[in-house]
Amino acid sequence: MKPPAFEYVAASSAADAVEALRRYGDEAKILAGGQSLMPMLALRLARPSALVDINRCDDLEGLAESGGVLTVGALARQRDLERWARTGSPLLSEALGWVAHAPIRNRGTVVGSLVHADPASELPALLLCLDGSVLVRRKGGERVIPADKLYLAPLTTSLESDELATSARFQLPPEGAGWGFAEVARRHGDFALVGCAAVLALDSAGAVSHARLGFFGVGGTPVRGAPGEAALMGREPTPARVVEAAKAAAAALSPDGDLHASADYRKKVAATLAERVLVAALSRCGKSR
Ligand SMILES: Cc1cc2nc3c(=O)[nH]c(=O)nc-3n(C[C@H](O)[C@H](O)[C@H](O)COP(=O)(O)OP(=O)(O)OC[C@H]3O[C@@H](n4cnc5c(N)ncnc54)[C@H](O)[C@@H]3O)c2cc1C
Repeated sequence: MKPPAFEYVAASSAADAVEALRRYGDEAKILAGGQSLMPMLALRLARPSALVDINRCDDLEGLAESGGVLTVGALARQRDLERWARTGSPLLSEALGWVAHAPIRNRGTVVGSLVHADPASELPALLLCLDGSVLVRRKGGERVIPADKLYLAPLTTSLESDELATSARFQLPPEGAGWGFAEVARRHGDFALVGCAAVLALDSAGAVSHARLGFFGVGGTPVRGAPGEAALMGREPTPARVVEAAKAAAAALSPDGDLHASADYRKKVAATLAERVLVAALSRCGKSR
């Protein structure tokens, strides 16, 4: 199918894009990599009357780390992050390998994936796990939306229709932290049926000093595995405690069943993946971040 007719606005800067969003209000959509939006237009699942193309906005480029915080501009492609992550963050590197296919990552932006808010997407769960946030701008002001306030429902965030996401920030794991990432999908490059990421750090006595678990594909939004984190924090991560933590995190999930997997299957797989990523994270503690 062909997309419905729309007006095309080629923004030349973030300010230009924000002005266009103000002008068109609810009727406009930002066009970033187009890897989710264009299929939605073609299938007529979205019918914006204007597309505001940000691909010429040089001030939205950029990807840089400073003081353990990685800032990713709205035009940084998933491939840019993948390249940086090869040496900068093995967790992000592993996760990006599961996002779609290389040609899609060449065009798709990191921020576009974050604000598109597909609950089966890898990057939104990573934003939660890495205490991240999104910086958004509208005419007359900016605000920071922390990851735990961003995701409201499938494909729905707390961004207003006149707000442009200008960048995302990820807090890289503390020095010496270990990480784990696992996903179950039907085929390579498909959206996840269930996925899970973990970051763990230990103090000098061997107790857990930092714990993050993030699930995707288990409901309408990415979910932090808070009960699992609480079961580990301040304690020695014995094998029994890790199993208990994984079970506690999965027990709190309310996944949906669909054509691809039942809710019960997703919950069982979530518990298994949580245990795997926690074990992997522990095995990497003290080695890399
Ligand atoms: C075959 C296929 C397989 C895929 N598999 C996966 C997968 O396994 N995992 C996964 O995570 N993704 C997958 N994707 C989606 C892909 O990662 C997209 O690139 C991503 O979801 C959206 O990024 P984009 O830059 O292409 O955004 P676009 O498609 O341009 O936009 C997506 C939405 O976000 C909005 N938006 C984009 N940027 C901004 C901004 N800066 N401010 C405000 N709103 C904005 C748009 O208005 C639109 O509503 C797949 C896509 C395809 C086609």
